[in-house]
Amino acid sequence: MKERKKLYEGKAKIVYAGEHPDELILHFKDDTSAFDGEKVAQLEHKGEINNAFNAYIMEYLSKAGVPTHFLRRHGPRETVVQRLDMIPVECVIRNRAAGSLCRRLGIAEGQVLEPPILEFFLKNDSLHDPLINRSHIRTFHWASDSEVEAMTRWTQEVNGLLSELFARAQLILVDFKLEFGRFQGQLRLGDEFSPDGCRLWDASSMEKMDKDRFRRDLGGVVEAYGEVARRLGVPMLP
Ligand code: ADP
Ligand code: UDP
Repeated sequence: MKERKKLYEGKAKIVYAGEHPDELILHFKDDTSAFDGEKVAQLEHKGEINNAFNAYIMEYLSKAGVPTHFLRRHGPRETVVQRLDMIPVECVIRNRAAGSLCRRLGIAEGQVLEPPILEFFLKNDSLHDPLINRSHIRTFHWASDSEVEAMTRWTQEVNGLLSELFARAQLILVDFKLEFGRFQGQLRLGDEFSPDGCRLWDASSMEKMDKDRFRRDLGGVVEAYGEVARRLGVPMLP
């Protein structure tokens, strides 16, 4: 078998060069991390679940007209994507208060946020992904004004689509993070959508079904991810 070129290894994925120069292979690891990589663990089968989950969501969004980097699944742990020039900004949208919003503003967890709050964070682990605004993005040229407009619009659009999808599976989409990049100058949704990068609560018990189970030592992390996938009807086979 031809040796693949490893381009980058992150906290949750390995990025390999694809067969075509415009393509990359994302390899979903079992590694999980929180608090800027301070807390790490290996969770058996997490990579497979997240790969299947992400493929399902990316295909769903593509069909609904969202421009994504997703091309095809490539075995149980890998996905082929378009190689993007990534924008170093994390777009977070929140339907209910949780996590850093509660810590920063003293808001009670669970408060409904109407309209949803959209925040930008700089993707920079050594600076602990600081909160930024449009003015920082403009001055430091992390993205153009029209890209910021488009990232805002697509994040809101994805929120509408996925809040409905999860609601049908008796889940509340509390918040999530998206990353975007450019493919031949055009904005595309990149990276992944999985329970590692969103908060999902059971609609009746309000039980946490996402990475907060790991952050807060609640146990049953992979089981909860699997349950979310099962409720959505995510096919687990490659
Ligand atoms: P991190 O870098 O935060 O530790 P991961 O372990 O998930 O995160 O690594 C995946 C990396 O690949 C991220 O830095 C992400 O921005 C980048 N990435 C995701 N999709 C693409 C893409 N289509 N093209 C280029 N880079 C991408
Ligand atoms: N998130 C993420 N990667 C990050 C930071 C946040 O995927 O580097 C997700 C996180 O899982 C949650 C949402 O973005 O669904 C909002 O995260 P928050 O700002 O509350 O930070 P946290 O307290 O989760 O670190």
